[in-house]
Order: sequence, then structure tokens, then C-alpha cells
Amino acid sequence: MLLVNELHVTQARGRSLEPPADRRAALEAAFAHHDWTPVPRDESDESPVRLTVEDADRLAGVAAELHAVFGGDVAALNRALVRHGAVPSLHGDPPVLAFHRPGADRVDAWAADACTALAMVIGVGQGRRLRSCEAEGCDLVFFDVTRNASRRFCGLSCQNRAKATAYRARRRT
Ligand SMILES: [Zn+2]
Repeated sequence: MLLVNELHVTQARGRSLEPPADRRAALEAAFAHHDWTPVPRDESDESPVRLTVEDADRLAGVAAELHAVFGGDVAALNRALVRHGAVPSLHGDPPVLAFHRPGADRVDAWAADACTALAMVIGVGQGRRLRSCEAEGCDLVFFDVTRNASRRFCGLSCQNRAKATAYRARRRT
């Protein structure tokens, strides 16, 4: 989700976004902002994890694949699972279950794990919780955790804008 929102979305909360000129810097800032440390792919991975420019460019491609999934494109997700080699596998000692091939490079490992997580959500009948904001001028994606899966907007600012738009539309008619 973070990948899609940082690297692929071209409009958010009613404003258009320039794609980040430096994807690596944008990603690292986003990781820091969300207080998320990318997990090393295995015990041989250096720490802390530094993305390369090439990693960041490939992750932008992954973000584009995943954005389609939030629009309900299950076939695209199946293709991505194959492309990134998603497979259950035990890594390290003590063994930890992950969903990428042993020896997968970092981008494929993250992509495979992310695709698997989305597939699990969809596979247990919760795919409608993977949503894209319905407000005009916003393509942000989110995971709807409301009890009846009724959330339509990424946040309050979009909800308020959409309400205002609907109000103006009613007044015109
Ligand atoms: Zn929004």
C-alpha cells in the first residue's frame, strides 16, 4: 500500500502529484515516516537495508502492478505472484515463514511477500476491503477496516471534499 501510494499515485486529496524525481529518497523518507524498517531478505543481507536506485525503479513497477489489484484485478495479481516467484518458504534459523524464494533479490522478495498478503486478503473473501479512494482527484489506496467494509474515502479531507461537491451538485438542481 505504501509502495502504491508513494510511487504510483498521480493524484491525491484533490491535488495532482509529481512522481518523485528521486524514488529512492522518496521511499526511504516514506519508510521513516511510517516507522517501517524493511526486513532483510535473509541473514546475509546487510543491515540497515539501503535501496539502490535500480531497486527503487523496479519497485515503481511493482507499485503499478499492485495498484491494479486495488481496483479488483485478480488476474494481474496472479501474474505478479508468478513473476516475482511467490512461494511459501522457511527462511533463517529459527525458521520464519515468508513467501519468496530463497535467494530472491530484495525487490522480488518484497513484491512476492506483498502480493501474497493481498492474495490472502482476497482469498478469504475480503477483497472488497482493498479500496481505492472514491473522491474525485484522488487515487490513494487503503485497507478498509470498518466493520461492514463501507469506507469510501482515504481520509477526512477527501470525505469532506466529496460531501461539499455533492452538496453543491444538489443545490444546482
Ligand atoms: Zn482520497
